[in-house]
Amino acid sequence: MGPPGSGKGTQAQGLVRERGWVQLSTGDLFRDHIKRGTELGRTAKRFIDKGEYVPDLVTVDMVRQRLTQIPRDTRVVFDGFPRTVAQTDELDELLAEFDRSVDAVLLLEVPRTELLTRLGKRAKEQGRTDDTPEVIGRRLDVYERQTRPVVEHYKTRGIVRLVDGVGTVDQIAARLAKAAAE
Ligand code: ADP
Repeated sequence: MGPPGSGKGTQAQGLVRERGWVQLSTGDLFRDHIKRGTELGRTAKRFIDKGEYVPDLVTVDMVRQRLTQIPRDTRVVFDGFPRTVAQTDELDELLAEFDRSVDAVLLLEVPRTELLTRLGKRAKEQGRTDDTPEVIGRRLDVYERQTRPVVEHYKTRGIVRLVDGVGTVDQIAARLAKAAAE
């Protein structure tokens, strides 16, 4: 977990490469639907372009669908999910169906000023439609309002591991590896 621009996607890809885990990124899945022009993609785009979250029902159904394709003995690294308290509850139920559970939450901590710099840079490099200055501000606010409570929920379960998300990609990867092994 972590706010927009905290490096979730980059670091999840590292865990996939080095450990053979499977990444389940809701942002990537949505962008793939948008690219393919599916109905789900059209729905998702309306929310994503405003910096808002896609409705929970749509998101959870998509996650369920993806989970059915992953062998049960393969570790899954969720990237960008769950992002609301309702999704968190749904995830527990969903995982129970698959005889699984959440082992740990790795939380990337990055100050807001650094996030704004990174997202501004990504806007130039990747041209993502949700990386414009207004939408970036909105996404950070939405994160604080809707996703911070998810972090608090997992903290009460005692499974959150804080990881300093400032540094080089390799430095952060090393911190994550250590936190994941704890
Ligand atoms: P970032 O974390 O940098 O915002 P993502 O690719 O994870 O990038 O997400 C991009 C957008 O996709 C979000 O702003 C949101 O609109 C949508 N999205 C991704 N994951 C979820 C989710 N779990 N629930 C609802 N919307 C989501």
